[in-house]
Parts: sequence; structure tokens; C-alpha cells
Amino acid sequence: MKLSGWGRSPLVNAQVYVPRDLEALQKLLASKPSVIARGCGRAYGDSAINSSATIDMRRLNRMLAFDPKTGQLIAEAGVVLCDIIAAFLPRGWFPMVTPGTKFVTLGGMIAADVHGKNHRKHGSFRGCVDWIDVMGPDGSIQRCSSKSHVELFEHTLGGMGLTGIILRAAVRLRAVETGWIRQTTIPAPNLKSAMTALERAQDSTYSVAWIDCLATGENLGRSLVFLGDHANASDLPTYRSLHPFATPAKRKLSVPFNFPCFALNRFSLRAFNALYYRIGVWNRGQQLVDWDSYFYPLDAVADWHRIYGRKGFAQFQCAIPIKRSEEGLSALLQTVAKAGAGSFLAVLKRFGPQESRFSFPMEGYSLALDFPITTKTSHLLANLDRITIEHGGRFYLAKDSRMSAETLRASDGRVASFVRMRAKSGWKSSFQSAQAERLVL
Ligand SMILES: Cc1cc2nc3c(=O)[nH]c(=O)nc-3n(C[C@H](O)[C@H](O)[C@H](O)COP(=O)(O)OP(=O)(O)OC[C@H]3O[C@@H](n4cnc5c(N)ncnc54)[C@H](O)[C@@H]3O)c2cc1C
Repeated sequence: MKLSGWGRSPLVNAQVYVPRDLEALQKLLASKPSVIARGCGRAYGDSAINSSATIDMRRLNRMLAFDPKTGQLIAEAGVVLCDIIAAFLPRGWFPMVTPGTKFVTLGGMIAADVHGKNHRKHGSFRGCVDWIDVMGPDGSIQRCSSKSHVELFEHTLGGMGLTGIILRAAVRLRAVETGWIRQTTIPAPNLKSAMTALERAQDSTYSVAWIDCLATGENLGRSLVFLGDHANASDLPTYRSLHPFATPAKRKLSVPFNFPCFALNRFSLRAFNALYYRIGVWNRGQQLVDWDSYFYPLDAVADWHRIYGRKGFAQFQCAIPIKRSEEGLSALLQTVAKAGAGSFLAVLKRFGPQESRFSFPMEGYSLALDFPITTKTSHLLANLDRITIEHGGRFYLAKDSRMSAETLRASDGRVASFVRMRAKSGWKSSFQSAQAERLVL
């Protein structure tokens, strides 16, 4: 079948297998030249595609045990985050770290070592992983953690499925009193003030900024900064505090067809961005927001990726080290605004300290932008790559669909040792994705 990631490009012909148990997985590993595990396919590019054997893990999705004293959940890798939330939020538990969609598997979150809006305070997903069971090239299973089979553990977190198949994991959830977030909206007229607001927000659990990436001149980097903390029961009005985990039912919207390519142009985007900013200015200050709207606003619109048209879209996400962040971000935003090819989704996050074997985050700022795939945007993306590298930044493999092997190596000194480790451990011959082939991993 034709398979792609969330960005719908590239589209690859692939054989997909859906094993129901470990024996079936072992047989697949023994019979195929190489395999790659796949979760919900929410990575944007080709990281979860192997043309000869893509293994859909979603049938291995049992939740196996929960310890209400520590919040530790043991579950199979194919369990989807929305099911974890549905099972545990009513009991007062929420994920420690969550990406911006709840339609991801546990295995996918571990393999990408995802980050949330609380990276500065709580780090990436690895911070809540006690151990993982990984199936190796010969079908044997290793339980690894920061204390046992450390190399396998360290390379699997952020290793994009290229170190083995994650079967099960023990992860800790966070105790919460309600399903609500106390959100503060801060309009910031330019990049400097957005960064100042994010720097000052170190006591907030969550922080993120939406950037108007078409604003220029004095308004370059004009943003809405959203801070958030889990609300206590006493923060809720009485009628809500009786059912602190209940959230209002929402009408599910969907994008019914692929938008034509002319629908997204600098005029429609500029109008959208100006309106969105103005609404943010009106809503400045504190509000109570339910967990679903706060963490997963995009999930409310099914198939929203269709607005980018039939050819799909590419996401650019980089992290720039703290010392070069302001300069690097200004250069990136100026280049985007000049090209007039801004995206609806331009998200700025402040990352806290992290240095891992292969995970994406580093202390500094992360910028994410979406672009429809056209010749013009591919030139723009190449320019953004160059600026990122010049400022010591690197790229997020879970969002990549188009980078070259040279660009990756120029941005990330850790690639050589990851590649050596793959060759030494036999992972390279057994675990391959279209992305790994493109990036020569
Ligand atoms: C709307 C949206 C918002 C997002 N927001 C964020 C965000 O805020 N922060 C962030 O970090 N990411 C974010 N992402 C990216 C997403 O969290 C990651 O791409 C995640 O890995 C997707 O999980 P998945 O189950 O869909 O995995 P897939 O996309 O199917 O696979 C992703 C990678 O995980 C590997 N993998 C999957 N399952 C296994 C397994 N069992 N064993 C070994 N490897 C496995 C695959 O081989 C592949 O390399 C976002 C994505 C979308 C679409």
C-alpha cells in the first residue's frame, strides 16, 4: 500500500504487517531483510516506513499494570495516548510529558523522545520512562533503563525505531486534581518581548508561543505567549469542582477535502494571522481551559493536514542553542517573512537543559513552521536549514521529511557515533526506515 507520515509526503509503496503477538513479530524479523515499527503515523515524514516491512504496532496495545502510589503505568508500545488519558484522567492522572496531539502511541513517543510545552521544567519524555522492553535483531528481548543495558536505552530514546522494536514500557504519570489548566495569554509585540515573556515564565509548568511569522519590521516575531498550570480543585467554579475531570463536549470538525493550492497564500495567511493575534489581545490575561483544548487544539479538526493540499506539506523544526537563539530566530523569521510563505502554525518553545545520545532537544529555543510543498518553499527550507546550522542548531527527525544526509551531519555531531553504534550492534541491517536510508543512518 501507499504510505506516508502526517505531512503526506513522501508517499512510499510499502508492505504493512499488523502482528498480534510477540511470536508473530519475531517471525517477521527473521523473515524480512529489515523492518521498521510504526505507531499512529503522526511523525511528519518517512521515519515510520520501510518498503519491505512496516510493522503496525497498534494491535499490541494492552495496559498491563498501574501502581496508584507512584503513578507508574506498564503498557504495550501500541497503546495510544488518548486511551491512556481516557483511562487515567478520571482517576487523577495525566501524562508527564505530551506532544501536541494525543493520537500517538507509547512506542512512537519513546522512539522520538517527544517534548511538550513543559520541556524547560520537566525535560523530554525520557524523564518519565522507568524502563522499556526492546526486541533486538535476533528476536530476543532486553529490558533496558538508565541502569541496565544503558546503551540500548540511551539510543532507543530518540533513536526513531532504528535500535529495535519497543514492546512495553513502564512510564510514570503525573497526579492532577482536575482536568483544567489555568492559562495566561500574553500578547508580545515582537520577538524580543516574546522571548522575555518566555524567560520570565520559568515558574509556569507549561509555556509556548504562537508567532505571526509574516509580521515584519518592528513587529517581527509578534506573538501570543500562552502559559499554563494544572488547576487545583479550588481554582474551579463550584459547578465544575463537583466533577473536576469532566470537560465540555465539543463538536468535532473536519476538513472534508484537499484544499486547492491557491487557497494558502500570503494574503489569506496574513489575514488569518492578524485576526488570530487580535483575538489573543482581546483574551489577554487568565482563563480556565479544559485539558483537551489546551494540549490538543489541532486534534479538534480531523484531517486538518488537508488544508495544505494534495501534495502535502513539510514541517521545519529546529532547536537553536540558548546563546545564539535570539540572533538565529530573527534570521529565520526575517527569511520566512521576506519569502511571504508563512505558516498558520509557527510555534516557539523554550527548551531546558538536555543532552542525549540522539534525542532532539537542547537548551535553547525551538521553532516549528509548516509549509505546503512547492518549489518555492523547498528553496526557503534550504535557506532555513543553512541559517540553523550557522547558529549551531539542529533538526527534529520526527518532523523531517526532506533533509539531506549532509545537512543532518552538518547540524548534529552525534550522528557519527549513532551510525557506529548501529553498525556495531547489528541494528543497521535489521532496522531501516525510508528516512534512515535518505539520511544514511
Ligand atoms: C499535530 C501534531 C503535533 C505534534 N506535536 C509534537 C510536540 O509538541 N512535540 C513532539 O515532540 N512531537 C510532536 N509531534 C510529533 C509526534 O509526537 C511524534 O512524531 C511521535 O513519534 C508520533 O508517534 P506515532 O505513534 O504516531 O509514531 P509514528 O509516526 O508511527 O513513528 C514515529 C517514529 O517512532 C518509531 N516507532 C513507533 N513505534 C515504535 C515502536 N513500538 N518501537 C520502535 N520504534 C517505534 C517509528 O519507527 C518512527 O521512527 C506532533 C505531531 C503532530 C501530527
